Amino acid sequence: MNVAVVAAEAVPFAKTGGLADVAGALPRALERLGARVTLFIPFHRRFLPAHLTVEPTGLHVQVPIGGSLVEGEIHRSRLPGSNVDVYLVDQRDYFDRDGLYQRQGVDFRDNCARFAFFNRAVLEAVRLLDIPLDLIHCNDWQTGLIPLYLKEHYSTQTGPAATGTLFTIHNLAYQGAFPYEQFALLGLDDRLFHWEALEFHGRFSFLKAGLVFADTLTTVSPTYAREIQTPELGCGLDGLLRHRRDDLRGIVNGIDSAVWRPAVEPMIAANYDAATVAVGKPLCKAHLQRRASLPERDDVPLLAQIGRLDPQKGWDLLIEVADELLCRDVQLVVLGQGQPHYHERLDRLAARHPGKLRVFLEFSSTLAHQIEAGADVFLMPSLYEPCGLNQLYSLAHGTVPVVRRTGGLADTVVDATPDNIAAGTANGVVFDDPNADALRDALQRTLSLYNDRQTWSSLIQAGMRADWSWDRSAREYLNLYQHVARRVQVRE
Ligand code: ADP
Repeated sequence: MNVAVVAAEAVPFAKTGGLADVAGALPRALERLGARVTLFIPFHRRFLPAHLTVEPTGLHVQVPIGGSLVEGEIHRSRLPGSNVDVYLVDQRDYFDRDGLYQRQGVDFRDNCARFAFFNRAVLEAVRLLDIPLDLIHCNDWQTGLIPLYLKEHYSTQTGPAATGTLFTIHNLAYQGAFPYEQFALLGLDDRLFHWEALEFHGRFSFLKAGLVFADTLTTVSPTYAREIQTPELGCGLDGLLRHRRDDLRGIVNGIDSAVWRPAVEPMIAANYDAATVAVGKPLCKAHLQRRASLPERDDVPLLAQIGRLDPQKGWDLLIEVADELLCRDVQLVVLGQGQPHYHERLDRLAARHPGKLRVFLEFSSTLAHQIEAGADVFLMPSLYEPCGLNQLYSLAHGTVPVVRRTGGLADTVVDATPDNIAAGTANGVVFDDPNADALRDALQRTLSLYNDRQTWSSLIQAGMRADWSWDRSAREYLNLYQHVARRVQVRE
């Protein structure tokens, strides 16, 4: 199986969220299963870590964007710990910036041109490098035009037209929708500005292009696959998704156990596994408390939340209950970056609770690891959550997740009901309603469980001993790739 994975970000080259974790880990897991995988990403030059080498291939591509031909250059690297070739699409005007999609919370005005260019440049690189492909795996709106460009601009003679396409929705709310005035940038026939193709409420949408034209669709959990077919979470695309329901499947993300495993992580204070968590975690907790300038106490429950400061992640619920929560004998550490009003509200909250709450308003992977290892409880009261990785990282670190029953959280966290505790399957605390009362109850339950050391330890063990690695999910993707490739062969 020859597969190209295409994404706008991938660990360790550039990351703003879970998409990068997936795009960095899935190709390696697929390779372990015997697939030949190539990864395509834009060259976000300013985010390249110093230890990685990227070399020019000498290959130049030209892409028509509106009336002009835009030139780019293809660079090459390797995914660390694998033989996966990574091709980085370099275009300095578009990608040599201090943000991937936006600056200070405002989207770049030329995102349509930037990602239309990226989509066509990837197909040109595949053609010119003559990479044999059975399937192109596209991810999120930034890659949504690839299946369409493939159909419109390539034939079996001129390029990779006989390739199957899979489009994965990592978050349906981000649609890459632009006004009609920018449609001409795409180099596509005007007939495609139509409700059965790209048109969406008077604009056109990259995401919709992916949903309409890809051979098959996935999203990152079975529950989210069902939820997006409803008006509540369908973001206006639920009708289309219901129409394509036979081609839509949910595959839960795995976690990269080379990166997110407390037994091997270099940046945490002590390495530990399920057998040594009782010794290792207190050391990590003490280190986190020092780092966060909180009193160094082992007996106090240390709660944490990490994530984009966006309503999706349930920050409003957390902020609503935080004063009450912080009147109790608890500590809370928060790491996040995003909408400025959350920065202000969290800062004010921290000022009211010195010695109990520490807010880090930054993006720091090191700190994210230290928090996962040092905290006792991870809060994820998301309003919706396609898969969620942080609850999986928490489970792997013996940090008990408190989550709302939605999307991938519903598929991965098993509530600590008496029955589930007795069965040894409980690994966290789950609540249903997206309101402060429900979160308050869940926190009350969590703190009671924390004081019952034996039950708490059973929750930790259930999380840590489960297999959250990519292998199972990668196998599901591979089966699907094979299925799609067979269908495409028959079609051709
Ligand atoms: P999403 O992709 O919706 O942002 P996920 O839970 O799937 O949410 O993945 C988020 C990823 O981004 C995790 O790896 C998390 O640790 C990381 N992350 C989010 N915010 C920060 C931050 N401020 N600093 C470091 N890592 C962060």
